Amino acid sequence: MPGKCGGELPPIDPKDPCSPPEVGDALGRARPAGPAGGESGPSCGCGSSARPAGGPAAEALEWFGGMINRCTEYAEKGKREGRPVVGFMCEVTPRELILAAGGIPVLLCGGSARTAEEAEEVLPANLCPLIKSTFGYHLDRSNPLLEAADLLVGDTTCDGKKKMFELLAGDRPLYILEYPQKADDPDALDHWERELGKFKAELETRLGKEITKEGIREAIRLMNRERRLRRELASLMKADPPPLSGRQLLEMKSIVSCVPGDLAMYERALDLLRDAPAPAEHARRPRVLLTGVPMVHGAERVLEIIEDSGGIVVAQESCTGLKPLVEDVDEDAADPLRALAEKYFHMPCSVRTPNGRRMDLLRSLAKEYRVHCVIDLVWQACITYDVESALVKALCEEELGIPYLRILTDYSPSDSARIAVRVEALFETLRVPGHG
Ligand code: SF4
Ligand code: SF4
Repeated sequence: MPGKCGGELPPIDPKDPCSPPEVGDALGRARPAGPAGGESGPSCGCGSSARPAGGPAAEALEWFGGMINRCTEYAEKGKREGRPVVGFMCEVTPRELILAAGGIPVLLCGGSARTAEEAEEVLPANLCPLIKSTFGYHLDRSNPLLEAADLLVGDTTCDGKKKMFELLAGDRPLYILEYPQKADDPDALDHWERELGKFKAELETRLGKEITKEGIREAIRLMNRERRLRRELASLMKADPPPLSGRQLLEMKSIVSCVPGDLAMYERALDLLRDAPAPAEHARRPRVLLTGVPMVHGAERVLEIIEDSGGIVVAQESCTGLKPLVEDVDEDAADPLRALAEKYFHMPCSVRTPNGRRMDLLRSLAKEYRVHCVIDLVWQACITYDVESALVKALCEEELGIPYLRILTDYSPSDSARIAVRVEALFETLRVPGHG
């Protein structure tokens, strides 16, 4: 594996943008805004906004608070060293193949209210804000990572994204992965494996590097390591009270996969947080399982409202939470491409039919994280998650006996007060020992 995504972690270098900061350097010290900060950042409207920054989590929050700037530096440095940047917009994209081709995989989903609005010059207003925001960055060219991308990888998941990709393809190099819709059909899995075979061949041609079986295996080990570390961090939230807020946990991720400094910081955060006493303010709060659409950088408003209203989000089921992390890829499989196909085929996304795996995941998360209620976030015009809400509501109320609240919104803060009122009303109905 070439470049910094391969092999063992290098020693921490404070001068390297890909290396964690020194221990004493991190506490409470603001990082200067760089070229990718603020509205010019790829998928955020801000450099960082995981507000609470005290206690043992401070060092990791400081590190991931500078994530956008650091990812931009990392990608630019990689490009100078000959590594192509490959942008993608869905968790079903097998980053392992991009890594095995020597590429830098970068998540390009937009979380900015500003670019979502700007996209309405071209796209219908009644479209998911995540799609609009991603496209708005394309229109105004303000995302340096999108501009750095040598190749974009789209997907046939939801209709809005699929059609938006046709517009992107007008002036950017783009390859489409056809993701099968029938979740339990063996023919669909075989088709998906063939799709990954075509994607591998396309990467080899476009990036000019052969992808070997051993290269895929190495990338699988690396991605499994990242998934395991993020999963273990999320598992800390099973504690009562948990050592982190949900907002803090959401901050601890990166839009570039397998950056050595990020992996080192996940490990350090685990070391610091495993036996640390939980902040007193996390106790006696309603424990919330948040499900539904992804909350990409800049679009964390609903989670913040929930926690400002007295709750604590202990489990996040979405694609920015546990959904992509719960299953690893078989590292020892004789055919690593088939192993990759199986992992990504199992993603419990609402575009699948039927999507029973999502219900299974919700069942197990509700139990493991001992939640008091489920809040289902749906972006405006996200038809698949919106329709599936009926099934999630029935699961919660009729099978699990857990109160359920659906929140339909977009990136505009105009309904924040109304959402807070509904969340507070939900919390008032809960019986949480010591709460209220
Ligand atoms: S929710 Fe579905 S379409 Fe969206 S990122 Fe996840 S897998 Fe992809
Ligand atoms: S949130 Fe829904 S509509 Fe938006 S990109 Fe994801 S699946 Fe598509």
